[in-house]
Amino acid sequence: MSVLSVTEWPTPGRDLDSAMASMPARIIVDPAAITANLMALDALSEAESMSVIKANGYGHGRDVVAQAAVDAGVRWLGVAQGSEALQVAEWAARSGTEVRILTWIYDPDSLPLLIGAGIDVSVSEVSHVLYAATAAAECGRVARIHLKIDTGMSRGGATAADFRLLVAAAAQAVEVGHCEVAGVWSHLARADEAGVEGREATAAQQREFDEALAVVKAAGLGAGIRHLAASAGGLAHPGARYDMVRWGIAQYGYAPSPDVAMPAGVRPALRVEARLTLVKRVDAGRGISYGALARLDEARWLGIVPLGYANGIPRLASGKAWVSVNGHRVRQLGRICMDQFVIDLGSADREPLGSVGDIVDVLGGAGPDAAEWAEWAQTIPYEILTGMGVGVARRLAAPV
Ligand SMILES: *Cc1c(COP(=O)(O)O)cnc(C)c1O
Repeated sequence: MSVLSVTEWPTPGRDLDSAMASMPARIIVDPAAITANLMALDALSEAESMSVIKANGYGHGRDVVAQAAVDAGVRWLGVAQGSEALQVAEWAARSGTEVRILTWIYDPDSLPLLIGAGIDVSVSEVSHVLYAATAAAECGRVARIHLKIDTGMSRGGATAADFRLLVAAAAQAVEVGHCEVAGVWSHLARADEAGVEGREATAAQQREFDEALAVVKAAGLGAGIRHLAASAGGLAHPGARYDMVRWGIAQYGYAPSPDVAMPAGVRPALRVEARLTLVKRVDAGRGISYGALARLDEARWLGIVPLGYANGIPRLASGKAWVSVNGHRVRQLGRICMDQFVIDLGSADREPLGSVGDIVDVLGGAGPDAAEWAEWAQTIPYEILTGMGVGVARRLAAPV
């Protein structure tokens, strides 16, 4: 088998080691971990769960995560882009899976495609309600819309003033036919903060959400599914769960922030491994990598790991990171390059801690997790996960 492209996913248990022959690094995704995580999150309350699989399933592979979510009994899949929603709809049709799909970022011109594919769409603007209803009428379908209220994030959604107009437009479209209010929703900005300011901001957003629901009711409309919380809200603010929680980062085994506690047993589902491509003895006084940010004060063994910032290893982590080789925690040295980085395999007085071909745990396994990489790179695990793995071979973890 040749090197796997991101879209060519193997079936569990299939041996893909031959892919390593040309690609000395790989991403290993464990769908069973995602399924178990979602089940643990879903069990927190009566609220339904949506599995958020935008950004290629946070780097885990969109189809793999979709299947893992369905295996957990989840029937809602959420994506940002309309293009992703269409791909999920194709996957669902291909695999004969019944799911509901919600998109919240799309070109209004693509509404006929989205509605035609049976995808639920978020609407923040009156004109989009009209486009959606028209598109539905044209293809003989019902547009399922989720009215979005901006409760304080100032990103998507109609402000309270505009929301009344949005609701009026929706009421009209529902009356004419071809349109159904499938949901009312919003997004929290500070649910991941334990401090009093964060808690107050979240409570205020919840109040604005309740007011919006009252506006919908006063217009004689059903609200459908009411959803406000993503991972942080679903975990830290039980009152924000309403009818459904949109689980993103938590289903991938990471907390939305260090302030948010996760249920026991929830674990990361993605690992990154590489093989050492070179091991050599380098003399004292030599500089390491671009700019010679690191310099050897004694002769040491250095190893080369064939991954770099082009593959999602953050350059900002240069000189701070460590990885694991044969059970040893070893330092990364000097600048991380586009396709490779250098690690310290010990004093030249002794045997090197690894040989060419040995496996390096770069992320997960015995190595650092995405939260640790995020700390070195002054970012969040979300960015590490979604950026990881461009051009890297992928396989599924063998089922246990
Ligand atoms: C990304 C996203 C989510 C999931 O967020 P997490 O913090 O990863 O749980 C939920 N809702 C919306 C609107 C999003 O954009």
